[in-house]
Amino acid sequence: MEKYLDYTVNVLEKLLKIPSPTGDTNKIIEILKHTFEDMGLKSKITIKRGLIVEVEGEIKDKVRVISAHADTLGAMVKDIKSNGRLLLTQLGGYSWHTVDGENCVISTLEGKKYTGTILFDKTSVHNYGDSPRNDKRDDKNMEIRIDERVYSKDDVESLGINVGDFVSFDTRTTVTESGFIKSRHLDDKVSVAIILGLCKYIVENNIIPKYTLNFLISNYEEVGHGAAFLPKNSFEILAIDMASPGQGQTSKEEYVTICAKDSSGPYDYELRKKLVGLAKEDYIEYAIDIFNFYGSDASAAVRAGNNVRHGLIGPGVDASHGYERTHKLGILNTLKLLGKYIESL
Ligand SMILES: [Zn+2]
Repeated sequence: MEKYLDYTVNVLEKLLKIPSPTGDTNKIIEILKHTFEDMGLKSKITIKRGLIVEVEGEIKDKVRVISAHADTLGAMVKDIKSNGRLLLTQLGGYSWHTVDGENCVISTLEGKKYTGTILFDKTSVHNYGDSPRNDKRDDKNMEIRIDERVYSKDDVESLGINVGDFVSFDTRTTVTESGFIKSRHLDDKVSVAIILGLCKYIVENNIIPKYTLNFLISNYEEVGHGAAFLPKNSFEILAIDMASPGQGQTSKEEYVTICAKDSSGPYDYELRKKLVGLAKEDYIEYAIDIFNFYGSDASAAVRAGNNVRHGLIGPGVDASHGYERTHKLGILNTLKLLGKYIESL
């Protein structure tokens, strides 16, 4: 599986360059469709514009779903202020502090793009004294400073910017010599890249999975209904999504985490035992962890009424929903566990 790590990291860097805030994911889904097809894999765009890629298995009448989500955090224009700044509404859940000072792109309905910066409305310490240091950031005082000479609502409207326009953040992607990958939106593009790496491994080594696989690239996970609908004959869904290392957590950036429980409750115990067994057999570095404020596409699928067993694994991503970081070893360990899983009964 080591052979597929470089490909996975390269494809991750490419995916991170394509903005895909939740609700505005058509472009990335289209690019992913072509990437899978270039490998010779059949794919189809679902009615709600996610992607399903099928790999036939030994057992064809039972389908294993392996999901990752292509949508990310982002924002939408909520209001145009009289001074030409933009107020925002969040897409997905995050703290305003993490985007204070971040560069962004506003995409208009007509397809125009404008750059800007997300700032607190009293940022200058020279003008506002203690306010920039002490004031809580919220959706009333965070705004976009557009990189155009606009000083009124009319100026902004004349650019074609309107309420409802999508805003994406600069990801500031960096890969370090020591193997760390720092970027926004590793959640969950790292897992989409892992699925591509796994598919390349399957194709190049003529692997026949035990059960037919449906890779589901979902596009509404950050708002809770990414995998609400599963393909026919599905009996199991394994979501690939970031683990969240931190104080009191067992997850590590270098490990694959097998999730025991999150806000939605426990994941399927038998599936968890199987995944732990597979990791042990192959000396894959793993952790079992519990996430306090977390839901996944697997829990969304079960909540929506799908009659399936559900599991969740993924590499550790530090500072999730902020400026995130993971390690190549976390990607490799996740790939290794998936390689074992698809061939298991
Ligand atoms: Zn995620």
